[in-house]
Amino acid sequence: MSYTVLARKWRPQNFQQLVGQEHVQRAIVNAIEQQRLHHAYLFTGTRGVGKTTIARIFSKCLNCETGITSTPCGSCSTCTEIDEGRFVDLLEIDAASRTKVEDTREILDNVQYRPSRGRYKVYLIDEVHMLSNSSFNALLKTLEEPPPHVVFLLATTDPQKLPVTVLSRCLQFHLKRMTEEHIANHLAHILGEESIPTEEGCLPIIARAADGSMRDALSLLDQAIAFGAGELKLPEVTDMLGAIDQGFVRDILSAMAVNDVDAVFAAIDRMAEFNPDYRKVLAEMLSCLHRIAVSQMANKPVSSELDELTQILSPNDVQLFYQIGGHARRDLPLSPDAREGFEMAVLRMMAFRPDLVGSSESKKK
Ligand SMILES: [Zn+2]
Repeated sequence: MSYTVLARKWRPQNFQQLVGQEHVQRAIVNAIEQQRLHHAYLFTGTRGVGKTTIARIFSKCLNCETGITSTPCGSCSTCTEIDEGRFVDLLEIDAASRTKVEDTREILDNVQYRPSRGRYKVYLIDEVHMLSNSSFNALLKTLEEPPPHVVFLLATTDPQKLPVTVLSRCLQFHLKRMTEEHIANHLAHILGEESIPTEEGCLPIIARAADGSMRDALSLLDQAIAFGAGELKLPEVTDMLGAIDQGFVRDILSAMAVNDVDAVFAAIDRMAEFNPDYRKVLAEMLSCLHRIAVSQMANKPVSSELDELTQILSPNDVQLFYQIGGHARRDLPLSPDAREGFEMAVLRMMAFRPDLVGSSESKKK
């Protein structure tokens, strides 16, 4: 299996397949169907949330040989060339590498010419805030009187650096960061369609590592499958990402909840075989505790694996563990040994547990 197969194969081909950006999808699909196109769109948002993908889909909608449509055919030569990134009337410009005014001028000079193959020329200017002032002026002139056959798609991670004169001429959309849930669900869908065996617990780890970017998630997924020789296996995924199996953290918390110190140390021993990064273990524990607290206080169900912990830990315990865990994470470099620091944090959580402090005192009496 090739490393990039899934990432390329599952790149959204039309707006209906675009995951997590429904507000953008609806606005653009409506504009296309009602033939009320704007000349300039500004997409803001972090990396990997789909700017290039949207530009390509938009360009297909406008130029598909079946006519202007919100559902481009995906098979005509125009659609194929756009998908492959070699369509002459889709001009992708990375402003981060082209900041000189001559470069922008050279591009904008050609705006007046009709498209060579399609109905519309689509200009995607990525990181548009990196353009110099004089380049902005050149762009602004074009935006003031755009030729009818041109659509500008401007993208930036930093809209505050754009002059108001440019902002005011664009229809602005904020592209949302993908939530871990969105990413995990989408990956699960793909793996199902591809009939790739998947061990439980892999997808949340990949979704977290992708940090809001579906593109990163897909390439991590491809790597993980290559690592696992065609399957998604937990040890390979944790190994690859330097993550730990959340199961260890749950085992430790479960043993802490029933105050079983032997079971706590047995779980730590099992985890230690994987040579984990204890800062990451603590981070994972904090994030579990956060989800448990939300579930307890907001009565909002979390992942089913945490159900039992949500029942047996009191809200007081959860708050206390979180507090101690946070400090332990900060202080970990001060411990002579990371595992030692981690064990002390766990013991401290148990020693200060309000319910148990009470009961051990009552035992003494
Ligand atoms: Zn087509």
